[in-house]
Amino acid sequence: MPPREQDRHTIHSGAPHPSPPPSTTFQSIDPSTALPLCTIHTSPQSSILAAIASAKSALSAWSLTPPSARARILRRAATLLRARNAALARIETLDTGRPFSETSTVDILSGADVLEYYAGLIASGGLDGENIPLRPGSAAVHTSKHPLGVCAAIGAWNYPIQIALWKSAPCLAAGNTLVYKPSEFTPLHAEYLADIYAEAGLPAGVLNVVYGGGAVGAALVAHRDVAKVSFTGQISTGRTVAGAASGALKSVTMELGGKSALIVLPDADVAQAVDGAMMANFYSSGQVCTNGTRVFVPAAIKAEFEACLVERMRFIRPGDLFAPETNYGPVSSKTHYDKVVGYIRWGVERDKARVLCGGLGRLEGVPLALRDGYWVRPTVFTDCRDEMRIVREEIFGPVMTILSYETVEEAVSRANDTETGLAAGVFGRDLNECQRIVGLLEAGITWINTWGESPAEMAVGGWKQSGLGVENGRKGLEAWTRNKSTLVEMGGTVPTVFAKL
Ligand code: NAD
Repeated sequence: MPPREQDRHTIHSGAPHPSPPPSTTFQSIDPSTALPLCTIHTSPQSSILAAIASAKSALSAWSLTPPSARARILRRAATLLRARNAALARIETLDTGRPFSETSTVDILSGADVLEYYAGLIASGGLDGENIPLRPGSAAVHTSKHPLGVCAAIGAWNYPIQIALWKSAPCLAAGNTLVYKPSEFTPLHAEYLADIYAEAGLPAGVLNVVYGGGAVGAALVAHRDVAKVSFTGQISTGRTVAGAASGALKSVTMELGGKSALIVLPDADVAQAVDGAMMANFYSSGQVCTNGTRVFVPAAIKAEFEACLVERMRFIRPGDLFAPETNYGPVSSKTHYDKVVGYIRWGVERDKARVLCGGLGRLEGVPLALRDGYWVRPTVFTDCRDEMRIVREEIFGPVMTILSYETVEEAVSRANDTETGLAAGVFGRDLNECQRIVGLLEAGITWINTWGESPAEMAVGGWKQSGLGVENGRKGLEAWTRNKSTLVEMGGTVPTVFAKL
């Protein structure tokens, strides 16, 4: 059993501050054992206000710090993250239940990549404005970029430190200050991250952390000093948060859920397409927002695809989450376990979809010591129909649905028949045809002959109900700035209609 982490308290003004009594608490639970890891003190209103005030008082100095100096701090933080990768990955594995083979190769390192990317960008002119000679010699327009002010970031539970870094890196790079609320299900990383930023030289108050559930998030969103809300979570919560924030004309970035389509084209390399579908459904036990859970396969090659898939399913290896060969963990919480198993039950009993692999029941291969964890059998439903609930709603767990099709046009039209538009992808040998199909798919993140990679350079964000705005890439920095345009008249006279006739 891992040692308990020390209690977590609101972080503001550069240090954790225990909440005044009576404080309410909740537990962070290890999903592989269902045992508590840490007591978290919910931030009361007074602590939320203190965190916002701390961010506000640090704003002026931080926003006036030259980009090159801000970049040095971000780069140092990235170096510290890489040096502590193993320890931080261990925390993420305990908190999320995702295997160490994933957390130690993706979460912290991809977050450090984003810090380095934005440090490089702002140190090399990424925040430069424009100078337009309007009337050469007598009038010019300067357009400059400015931070938004105090920002709020609200995270989901699946990739906690990565989400925190994808939000904090561009936010701080652009000269804003931040109040961050991690998900109440996976909050452990936040204090480690705050410590790393502080050690890297981030001034006190630039990054603050509040803890709790929806009420704490809502209090942040509602505060008049918060200029922007960057949110990652479910579509339904996103609608509430975006409604509250944009009602007060705050900037928003919304990274929400999806029900993405993966289309296998008739000429695809079947083994390659199966590998893609496996990654798009079972990596992180299916708890990835961009999962390609609607897998469209030509009727003519469906049998071959399924045979290859059944073979590959044997390579899913639950087990001790710290063993290098383990590539499959439990889902993140009891609440989520009930939701995912509820969908599998619905698929079997109500949608009456055919179970190709998995289904209800106990997952084999789970060590005895982890039997109380939230393990779900990786499940493939086939012969699915578009109207089934398991095909229409985001399950956010290890559940693939296979849908067969006759013509590519039909597959595209069915793939687009959803209110979500986060991701999509195609597998095929003819790259021209793949690009043509991708061009027709209504999604903000698309892949050809691969699935899931999301490097720092790639601006990602959903279409339709899956989001507003983007994270990462050059465009991701813009989302944390506002413009000021100044027209300078140098001709010595003001154009006026009020001259003497
Ligand atoms: P959620 O919507 O339940 O919670 C997300 C966060 O919002 C939590 O921190 C929660 O405490 C907070 N919250 C809840 N109610 C709030 C309110 N009224 N005001 C302010 N904050 C509030 O989502 P979740 O279950 O934690 O995350 C899973 C979802 O996140 C899935 O739908 C997944 O697709 C999505 N997701 C999207 C992306 C992306 O980049 N598009 C990435 C990861 C996860």
